Amino acid sequence: MDLPNIFCPNKACSTFGKKGQGNIVCYEMYGPNRTKLLRCRICKTRFSERRNTVFFGLHTEEDTIAKVVRCLAEGDSIRATARIMNLDKDTVYRIFDRASTHCQKVLEHLMIDLHLEECQLDELWSFVKKKRKI
Ligand SMILES: [Zn+2]
Repeated sequence: MDLPNIFCPNKACSTFGKKGQGNIVCYEMYGPNRTKLLRCRICKTRFSERRNTVFFGLHTEEDTIAKVVRCLAEGDSIRATARIMNLDKDTVYRIFDRASTHCQKVLEHLMIDLHLEECQLDELWSFVKKKRKI
């Protein structure tokens, strides 16, 4: 089975954040959707295949989501981001909401996959907190 997009979620593991190392194996499936339970062969950590998929359940392409998050990280408002990306502002809000709900996971994902700088992320999360209060 091919699991090139999944990496070990254990920060202490030597393969943490590294995809395509061949260390992730599926050992069980569960539930009506046959969700895979995975295991890292290096550190033996077990986790659901959904664990690293921060974009799970969103119907927007990952590339678009990444750009939306970048816009938000740059300090654009939800309305401005919607305009820039030619998206509905509700869609942008859903992405934003998802991103802030999965804050920690998203942070890790962004750092690894989108190569955002730490200061950009700081700005994003202070923006998130500001919006959350409204
Ligand atoms: Zn591991």
